[in-house]
Amino acid sequence: MRGAAATRLLASCELCPRMCGADRLAGKRGVCGAADELRVARSALHFWEEPPISGEAGSGTVFFSHCPLHCIYCQNAGIANGQVGRDITVERLAECYLELQSQGALNINLVTATHYAVQAVAALDRARACGLSIPVVWNTSGYERAELVRALNGTVDVWLTDLRYARPETAKAFSAAPDYPEVARSAIAAMAQSDAQVIVRILALPGHVEEAFENVAWLVNTFGERVTLSMMSQYTPMGAFPQHPELEQRVDPDEFDALLDFVDSLGVEEYFWQEGEAALESFIPDFEACEGV
Ligand code: SF4
Repeated sequence: MRGAAATRLLASCELCPRMCGADRLAGKRGVCGAADELRVARSALHFWEEPPISGEAGSGTVFFSHCPLHCIYCQNAGIANGQVGRDITVERLAECYLELQSQGALNINLVTATHYAVQAVAALDRARACGLSIPVVWNTSGYERAELVRALNGTVDVWLTDLRYARPETAKAFSAAPDYPEVARSAIAAMAQSDAQVIVRILALPGHVEEAFENVAWLVNTFGERVTLSMMSQYTPMGAFPQHPELEQRVDPDEFDALLDFVDSLGVEEYFWQEGEAALESFIPDFEACEGV
C-alpha cells in the first residue's frame, strides 16, 4: 500500500470489492466515481462519533468524495457522488491531518477512504514524518476487501465499520452489491485478526431490522468481546423510494428497543447505542462544503 507499486494499483484498480479494474491513472472513473484525482469534501473536528472516538476534543474527520457503495438511501449524496469536494494533492492532505492534530483532534478519522487508500496512506506517511502522532481511524461502510484490511494492518488503529445487511437481496436492492454480506463479514474477520480496535456499527434500516438482529447474533457468536457493537437508530429518509416505501420512514423506536434488548440478552455488557435527536445530528451534519480542505 506504499510507494510506486501502490500507485500502479490504480492503473487497474481493484482496491474495493467492486474490483472494476478502471485505469484511473489514465483518467478513467471507476464504479466509485474516482479517477486519478484526490477529492476531499471536508476536514474538520467532528463531535458525534462514538464517545471514545470523538471524546470532548473531537475527532479529526476527513470526508473523501465519491464512494464505492452508493446506497440508494445515502445520507451524504453530494459527497458520495463527488459534487461536494475539492481536488487536492497528497501534500495538502498531509497538511490537513497535521492541522487537525494542532486543533486538538483525538485521532485522524478517514471517512470512506477506500478508493483513495493509496493517497490517504501516502499522506499519513508524510504527516507522520512531520510529527503526526495521533491514532488513525478507518471509517467505512464495511464494503472492504479483506486483502486491503490486512494491507492496512499497522497503519489503522481503529476500524470503525458498518455492517448493514445480512441478506444478499437487500444488499442488491439498496446498494447494488449482493455480495455485501459475505464481503463485509470477511472484512470484519480480517479486522478482528488485526492489531486494531474494532467497532462495528449496526445501522437499523426501517423494514429490515430483522437483518440487524441476524448481524448482531453473528458478531457476538463469532467474535465475542473482540469487537464492540455500536447500535445506530439514525437512519433518516432522504427522499421518495417508490420501489421501497419502507425507506421513507424512520426506524420504529419499539423495534430499535427490541434490538437493544436482544443485545442485552446475549450477555453483551459494553456497547454503544444512539437515542433521541442526537442520532439526527450525527448522521446529517450541516456540512460547510469543503471546510478545512
Ligand atoms: S475503488 Fe473505485 S475504481 Fe477501484 S475497484 Fe473500487 S469502484 Fe473500481
